[in-house]
Amino acid sequence: MINYQIIIDDIAIDAKRTKDKGVVASYIPELAKINSTKFGIHLIDANKNGYSAADAFEKFSIQSISKVLSLALCFSIVDNDIWKRINVEPSGNPFNHLSLLEFEKGIPRNPFNNDGAIVVADILISKLKNPKTDFLVFLQKLCNDTTINYNKKVAESERVTGFKNFAAANLLKSFGNLHNDVEVVLDLYFHLCAIEMNCEQLAKAFFIFMNHGKCLQGETYLNINQIKRINALMLTCGFYDEAGEFAFEVGLPGKSGVGGGIAAVLPNKYTVVTWAPGLNQKGNSKLGMLALEQLTTKTEQSIF
Ligand code: GLU
Repeated sequence: MINYQIIIDDIAIDAKRTKDKGVVASYIPELAKINSTKFGIHLIDANKNGYSAADAFEKFSIQSISKVLSLALCFSIVDNDIWKRINVEPSGNPFNHLSLLEFEKGIPRNPFNNDGAIVVADILISKLKNPKTDFLVFLQKLCNDTTINYNKKVAESERVTGFKNFAAANLLKSFGNLHNDVEVVLDLYFHLCAIEMNCEQLAKAFFIFMNHGKCLQGETYLNINQIKRINALMLTCGFYDEAGEFAFEVGLPGKSGVGGGIAAVLPNKYTVVTWAPGLNQKGNSKLGMLALEQLTTKTEQSIF
């Protein structure tokens, strides 16, 4: 049997020792304040045992990792209707790229680019009474943890610097693919990005993606085919324009965020989250990618 604790302890020691830790995102001013020497990892296996190392219990801004969770909630409500408004192809472009959206007449390439996640937020606003609260409750139930919340300062920091997101939302609106007000949709979008969680909480939330839609508490949120699709999107679109590199090096479906988090799953085996705020040039956590490459190499397990 694999001893996950020994492996992740080794990975954490290596990560703390690595000199080149990447660069903390600064385009959202609140994120620039984070200490780049942080490293956390938490893994939950199929038997619901948890293994953590280093800064696994320190909260961080989950940023674009929330795009998987908002997609999950949206998919559970509108099922395949969502694909009438969002495509499922990797973009090969940065997460906030705009020209493709204009070229493809307002249909985002996938739900993990900013434009796609903005459409997801729009659908949630149309379908839910209190989208912000309802999303939080969904997340809190997945993790059985009512302490999970938005960081208002980060959300505000995103709003005042979110020129490209405003441009994307306006472009979507001009093509008729945004049904609610730009301000209202972006307010939800910025809040979704500004959720704070630690590695353990996020690994708990992602348990549904490795467990056929059933959360840690045994409740089913999505069916097997929906989970198949979300995991496929994570593999092909989860790492900005570096999804191929992540599949090549790590071999797991996952999603990164510019807060330095990465959540990944090995279906039927485990869910794992790393947090290291320094990013590489493509916007993915530098140490996080290295750590997950070590995990799949040392355990000799991946989806391939
Ligand atoms: N809130 C960030 C943005 O909209 C998300 C970026 C990310 O984590 O990919 O720019």
